[in-house]
Amino acid sequence: MNNIGNESSYSLFISDLHLCASRPAITSAFIQFLQSTANKADQLFILGDLFEYWAGDDDLTHVDHDDIVQALKIVADAGTRVFLMHGNRDFLISEQFAKATHIHLLPDPSEIYLFDQRILISHGDKLCTDDTRYQAFRAQVRSPDWQAEFLSHPLTVRKAQIEALRLQSEQEKSNKSLAIMDVNSDAVSVLLRQHQYPEIFIHGHTHRPNTHNIEIDGHPCQRIVLGDWYEQGSCLRFDENGFSRQEVKI
Ligand code: MN
Repeated sequence: MNNIGNESSYSLFISDLHLCASRPAITSAFIQFLQSTANKADQLFILGDLFEYWAGDDDLTHVDHDDIVQALKIVADAGTRVFLMHGNRDFLISEQFAKATHIHLLPDPSEIYLFDQRILISHGDKLCTDDTRYQAFRAQVRSPDWQAEFLSHPLTVRKAQIEALRLQSEQEKSNKSLAIMDVNSDAVSVLLRQHQYPEIFIHGHTHRPNTHNIEIDGHPCQRIVLGDWYEQGSCLRFDENGFSRQEVKI
């Protein structure tokens, strides 16, 4: 994935689109983004929560997903390598989805190399360690046993269960402090140490776009937080001159 020497090459990073039928303008903006912006990039990294929720790959053929699946496939077939990492909402996206869209699933976290820089990418939810209730839930739903059991239910039952969970989560969120729902700086340090101090760390999830210049054990690192897609879309571009943020009109 090293693009040194190719002057026109660049990569794009997005996350937290939370695509769903109740916000059709976001879906349209994303499809437009794929057709007019992402198609010119070498690589598109989607760092989780592309969908508001994903009940299983047997939901691929749902009419709400048709245009998205087709648009992803078209941009991938035209030559942009599209990588997708799971978020806390769409962690059930699986091989069938990857096959239908011609995208590549990436583990969370992953190390990539662009323009001679070592970059760590993650969704970011695993770093919100102050939210112990969420971390317990995360451990449960990420276990293969839980997922196999969940996926054994009919799609309609799964969707109803997810809707109930979302409602519960929204209610709990309003009682949680903003600090609890941000990444924990010690958890960030542990992760960056584990990955031998990458120069750049990109994640989403918190919906707090920012660039933090941090130092771990004497190693400088830029922690770049991606923005979400609500009032506007947001995308991070990385080329030979470094990073820049780009707005995506909704
Ligand atoms: Mn998230």
